[in-house]
Amino acid sequence: MRIYADNAATTGMSVAAMEAMMPYLCQYYGNPSSLYAAGQKAREAVETARENIARCIGSAPREIIFTSGGSESDNQAILSAADVGKAAGKRHIVSDNIEHHAVLHTLEKLKKEGFEVTLVPVRENGIVSVKDIEAALRDDTCLVTVMYANNEIGTIQPVREIGDICRMRGIIFHTDAVQAVGHIPVNVNVDNIDMMSASAHKFHGPKGVGFLYAKKGLRLSNLIEGGAQEFGRRAGTENVAGIVAMSVALEEAVRRMCENTEKLLPLRDRLIEGLSKISHSALNGDRNIRLPANVNFCFEGIEGESLLLLLDDKGICASSGSACTSGSLDPSHVLLAIGRVHDVAHGSLRLTLGEDADAEQVDYIVKSVKEVVERLRCFSPVWRDLVSGKAKFIL
Ligand SMILES: *Cc1c(COP(=O)(O)O)cnc(C)c1O
Repeated sequence: MRIYADNAATTGMSVAAMEAMMPYLCQYYGNPSSLYAAGQKAREAVETARENIARCIGSAPREIIFTSGGSESDNQAILSAADVGKAAGKRHIVSDNIEHHAVLHTLEKLKKEGFEVTLVPVRENGIVSVKDIEAALRDDTCLVTVMYANNEIGTIQPVREIGDICRMRGIIFHTDAVQAVGHIPVNVNVDNIDMMSASAHKFHGPKGVGFLYAKKGLRLSNLIEGGAQEFGRRAGTENVAGIVAMSVALEEAVRRMCENTEKLLPLRDRLIEGLSKISHSALNGDRNIRLPANVNFCFEGIEGESLLLLLDDKGICASSGSACTSGSLDPSHVLLAIGRVHDVAHGSLRLTLGEDADAEQVDYIVKSVKEVVERLRCFSPVWRDLVSGKAKFIL
């Protein structure tokens, strides 16, 4: 059996998205900025995609800027808000400690430029408290950036409430919604969002394309200078085929959201229940306020990396921490943020199911993880110390 259970890292492209993009690669390959018909055909496709994406998130088409993905959108959103803040003499930013590195590293950069950043710690369930965010706001706060859903532990943040507070205080609110868009209902008006990042490859679109929503009237700073594409806010010839495919993928994801969620929730819960039976294990992140496909566990006495390799032998693609941090020896900042100690955080496993998952696959995953954890514990000196009482169990 081969099971791809790493859909938070990336997803496979949908057939509809692939079919939609093909003609724009080799047939209608004109430059959207060219005036002849072949160029205008590409222009039309880009603008239709913009309208479709806008409809999916409740924005106006003009409020959508096409980018190269989630990281670029996060960078542009945060740096733009910082520029707006700087012009008004406001240099304080509020965020939380489980953001994606595209956000955290951009904030680090701003710190070096004299900005002050308050990272509000999330609670033990991996959710930031609205009250804590509110308490962190100051008169010189120019931006609040809190992700919609976490990429590692799947927890869904109280975006609407945070957005509401920001709106009342006149503070720009950005959310990295890369894990949410196409998976759970997102509407920029209902959710009081000023800026929002999304990425096609997380909802069955192609890699290397995404978008930034920026509310009308919000001043964006360019990361990339050049031509006047994207209303002068993002230069470079448009990724026409990618943009078309992204819009088709998003429409499909939104159309199937209810059906997919209904299917995934019981499978996710079956997986959580199965893995909970492994001794000295714990679920990471809130039991219920989490993405419908996300399961994240810590198993005491083992290392996540070895776990992944042995699961790979059994045909299961999973992840430990996030794709960006796996391979490095530092444990996930997200797991540390929810109070897992280093040793425990090292033994983590993230499984993110695809829409094609079924009960048989879930049972196979549970059986495989059990076998692999037991086997690794047999050889683990850390586990031996725990069992002999030399060290104390935490989980
Ligand atoms: C994947 C991801 C990103 C980065 O998106 P790319 O398109 O790969 O640059 C940013 N934030 C979150 C929450 C993500 O899951």
